[in-house]
Amino acid sequence: MDRAQGDQSNGRSCCTLSLAKLLLMTSHDTSSLQNKHPVWQLIKYATRSFTDRRFSLWLALVGLVVALLVTLVWLAGRYEASQYQAELDRDTADAVNDLRNGFSNHIVTLQNLQAGSLSPKLWQAEVKPLLSQNRSWLRIERRDLKGLVLDAVASPLKPNLFDDKNRMNEQAEIVQTCLRSKRLNGPAYSRSYFVPQANGIGLEVMEMCLPIIEQGTSLGFTLLTYGLQEVLATTLGETYGRRNEVSFIEPDGTRLAVHGTLPRAKRLFTATQLIDLPGTTLMLRMDGRRAAPDLFPNILPALVTAMSIALVSVLVLLVKDSRRRLKAERDLADALAFRKAMEDSLVTGLRARDLKGRITYVNPAFCQMVGFDADQLLGQSAPMPYWPPEMVGEYQQRQAVRLAGNAPPREGFESVFIRKDGSRFPVLIFEAPLINVLGEQTGWMSAFLDISEQRRIEEFSRSTQERLQATARLATVGEMASLLSHELNQPLAAISSYATGSLNLLKRSDHGDAAHRLSDLQMAFERISEQAGRAGKVINSVHDFVRRRDQDKEVVSPQALINAVMPLVLLQAQKLHVRVETKLGERLSPILCDRTMVEQVLLNLARNGMQAMDHPDCRTRLLSLQIKRAPSSESHGWVEFSVIDLGLGISPEIAKQLFTPFFTTKAEGMGLGLSLCRTVVEQHGGHLEFEAHEPSGTLFRFTLPTAPEL
Ligand code: ADP
Repeated sequence: MDRAQGDQSNGRSCCTLSLAKLLLMTSHDTSSLQNKHPVWQLIKYATRSFTDRRFSLWLALVGLVVALLVTLVWLAGRYEASQYQAELDRDTADAVNDLRNGFSNHIVTLQNLQAGSLSPKLWQAEVKPLLSQNRSWLRIERRDLKGLVLDAVASPLKPNLFDDKNRMNEQAEIVQTCLRSKRLNGPAYSRSYFVPQANGIGLEVMEMCLPIIEQGTSLGFTLLTYGLQEVLATTLGETYGRRNEVSFIEPDGTRLAVHGTLPRAKRLFTATQLIDLPGTTLMLRMDGRRAAPDLFPNILPALVTAMSIALVSVLVLLVKDSRRRLKAERDLADALAFRKAMEDSLVTGLRARDLKGRITYVNPAFCQMVGFDADQLLGQSAPMPYWPPEMVGEYQQRQAVRLAGNAPPREGFESVFIRKDGSRFPVLIFEAPLINVLGEQTGWMSAFLDISEQRRIEEFSRSTQERLQATARLATVGEMASLLSHELNQPLAAISSYATGSLNLLKRSDHGDAAHRLSDLQMAFERISEQAGRAGKVINSVHDFVRRRDQDKEVVSPQALINAVMPLVLLQAQKLHVRVETKLGERLSPILCDRTMVEQVLLNLARNGMQAMDHPDCRTRLLSLQIKRAPSSESHGWVEFSVIDLGLGISPEIAKQLFTPFFTTKAEGMGLGLSLCRTVVEQHGGHLEFEAHEPSGTLFRFTLPTAPEL
């Protein structure tokens, strides 16, 4: 069962090891872990909602900018148009003024004409040049108070418009106008009316009646007929006719007279003004076509539009940039989620240190391993809280070597850590320099593997092996003992019966003759001596069997003996968290010994020493193996081996029975170790002793002879 578990955990350790190495190499493939892990889902959701929100923000920004730009262009256009409209309104008002002034001048001219009652001939002579000068004047009449025409002169510049017939048609209107002028005692104007002509076209005309007053008495009227189109042409043509179309219109928009033409395909602006004249009201309309239809009528909207285009371009670039950033953020989140999932699922402890030896990162597996929280570990430097107190010096030295830039072995090294609860455990450590993207070393990355389970299995198989060996040895001893008892039983039984017979013979002194009894006794003693000799031979054969090992003796250096037992000693030392040190004296001569037996002695003593330190009260666990030359006066020298532990020592009661076979204080002990050790040492002619060690523990010391020099 245990072995099966061991194999399993061995396999797991192997996998973890590869994973740790993989992690240290920091090469990974993110796509494989993009699964349904909750952390990943959470990150994805957060990213998506963040992206959606950012997208709508961008959309709102673009919409606002576009709306702002459209409004700006529209406002600029509107401003431009309002400017034109205002200009046209001003022009129209000016035109109305010009017309009023023109009409006033005409009145003055006519009043001058009326001064002095002229004879018809003279009147006509005066009027004709006036008609030639004023193109808008079509006819001038002089009428009496009843409205009858006294004199009439038509404009020489126009074909005669009026014949008697159409003059009669307008008679009522004319009389009305003149009556009004008489009432007003000043000029009065008639409504405009259309006068058709022979060629199918006609003219819109208007009459102006001015009373002729002499010394307060009204004598008649002067009637002036205006051609409205000519009024527009002569009065406003020069000033406004080029850019605008000026017209007199009726309230319903019907044009009565027009002057000026407009180019097409231009935006039309219109302004209308009333001209109040005594007796009638004219409506002047001015249509202007300005450069409004162009999209960019002037520099302001053009500038605004250009800036808008620039703004929109920048916006587009920003959107593109933001999309690139978003993608990078998503990739980063993917990579982080993968890294976190990987670190959390590892059973290998991970730890990063900076170049000063301070911990900068630990993964959950490491925290679990040592029993400390990440907060308690981050920022810590030597001595670390998970270092065993007695190892602090050694570990600090190791860290100094590492920080000096010496790379550790690639295959890793073993160490012992202490958990927060005080328990110790062995770890396998892999360390590698931490290199950043610029190729600079920023610290050290370490992977830790808890190998206590592995050690437990090794120890289990070792102790099983040992037990098997011990059992086998015991079986041999038992076999030999039963053989001995069997072999010795017969001669001893014979000796016993001969001795009993002899005693009986001696007791029965009165019986038979003395000579016969003596010969019987002699025979019995001979038999006893014979059987004793046989028993002696059995004993000698056992001795010979033991002595035969002498032939196995060989010359070996003390150092080689230590080297041979060291792996086994260290194995147990790791299990019991004991540090082992060796001290070898100078110029040690080789020794002649049964190598296997001496190694067994060293192993026994070392094991006893380490077991003596396996106690919670024992804080410092150090086993020292020392070899030195022993002072000697003999021809060959001696080498002295010492095994020193810092355990709890040996009490006087135990000390008394220490070398007694089968004496033990351990549950699983056999109590043969020390007695065998002494036998082996003494067989080599050496001496095994022990004494208390200061300040604590015990020192076991034995000597072995050096090999004779050739
Ligand atoms: P075992 O180891 O099987 O018990 P040993 O003959 O080797 O047999 O040891 C006998 C006893 O002597 C041990 O049970 C132990 O009590 C005691 N002993 C031996 N070595 C030491 C030591 N270094 N310190 C304290 N006690 C010791």
